[in-house]
Amino acid sequence: MAGRVAGRLGAASAPATSTPIDELRRRVEDIDMDAEPLGGQRVLEEIDRLFLQEAVWFHHPDYLAHLNCPVDVNAVAAETALAAVNTSVDTYDQSRIATLIERKLIDWTTGKIGFPQGDGVFTSGGTQSNMQALFLAREAALHGFSGRQRSERQSRLVILTSEESHFSVDKSALLLGLADDAVVTVRSDVEGRLDPAALEESLKGALNAGKVPMAISATAGTTDRGMIDPLPDIARIAERYDIWFHADAAYGGALLLSPTRRDLLSGIERARSVTVDFHKGFFQPVSSSALLLRDPRDFRLGTWHADYLNPEESDEPNQVDKSLQTTRRFDALKLFATLRGTGADALGRAVDRVVDLAHEVHEVVEKHPDLRLVSGSDLSTVVFRWQPEGVTDVDADALVAPIRRHFQEAGSLLVAKTVIANRPCLKLTLLNPGAELDRIAERLEEIAATAARMHEHTTRPTPTYEESLNETK
Ligand SMILES: *Cc1c(COP(=O)(O)O)cnc(C)c1O
Repeated sequence: MAGRVAGRLGAASAPATSTPIDELRRRVEDIDMDAEPLGGQRVLEEIDRLFLQEAVWFHHPDYLAHLNCPVDVNAVAAETALAAVNTSVDTYDQSRIATLIERKLIDWTTGKIGFPQGDGVFTSGGTQSNMQALFLAREAALHGFSGRQRSERQSRLVILTSEESHFSVDKSALLLGLADDAVVTVRSDVEGRLDPAALEESLKGALNAGKVPMAISATAGTTDRGMIDPLPDIARIAERYDIWFHADAAYGGALLLSPTRRDLLSGIERARSVTVDFHKGFFQPVSSSALLLRDPRDFRLGTWHADYLNPEESDEPNQVDKSLQTTRRFDALKLFATLRGTGADALGRAVDRVVDLAHEVHEVVEKHPDLRLVSGSDLSTVVFRWQPEGVTDVDADALVAPIRRHFQEAGSLLVAKTVIANRPCLKLTLLNPGAELDRIAERLEEIAATAARMHEHTTRPTPTYEESLNETK
């Protein structure tokens, strides 16, 4: 299998194929899951044909869409080991050394954040890390209340976050049983960073309306624009009003290792909880993320005990006490392998490389006569539109989805789209340290040429009756 995968990885000439979804659907539908087993050898062939041949390749330099990264090879080796052993890091008796290794990696991460007494746990992703942070924040806000008083207080809880924060904050509010209007959206400045004055205003408004602010959720690296909220200002406000400060650094956490940009995260050490996704800027295979807490006692706000598993009197280090999951992957081994085998300095340089590259691409877009840069980025996204002089906003809007779809269907270039200030935009997310400026500039030319063709096609005047008669002759 390793040989086949290596062959496919090396041979990938595009980030995806052009096989249409109907054909893919048919191939999957045609498989009879109850048929006679193929045996080990033939199933590998089937996986090769069915999956690898049609995979989306994040390591390909023309994959420029979402927050997916090429992976560190040492982590891939570790992935094989942890899957084969099938360790579950829930209780100590099931994992032993694995629990201690996970704790070591958590300590390493809290050390980088600046939580000297901190603790944490690996999770399945930023979505779960955010959810757990907000769960603990809810429990902190409801601590000491029970029964009807607890329900009444819960109905008044609010989370303050910027309009550019990740949708998992909204989703968490729903799952946590908060009121429909529990997420208070705070205005961002024009660049896309939460505005501290607006935060304080919203906070006062919520308090005056009888709400109980349970958390301020800041974003260190927004998913669309890669902007880092002003963490020290937010920390100051959270401290003054004594509100749980969560920092969602799912994307920006990678700067913890940057040799030149670590200062962009200053203030993160004043958060009470932090989300870091290792499967973004730490080049780890999916999944690998963590929730880190400044004060380890905060985990007790959400611990359950089961007699068969982790009874209250257990003196063993049971990671399940800190997790929303029970059976849980030993993802920490992958980060261990990367840090020991490749090293934190190399990761930090790779992160800097993609951020530098994004800034260079911003310049290319700004100089291009037909492209417009919509936003800068503290990290590695490029948000732009095709809109030459004289093309209206509405016409340019209408092209965003078709441009993306055109390349998506060909499989030749994968870009994303999003909406900034109510206008659709194209988005590149650069997380491949092997990507090169010249190649990206060429892809931008292709995008511009395709857009121009599409625009010409859609705005060509409709032929007169006589002209159309002539055409059909
Ligand atoms: C990616 C991202 C998330 C979600 O993380 P997953 O690992 O995809 O669950 C949360 N917040 C931000 C800012 C992100 O960029």
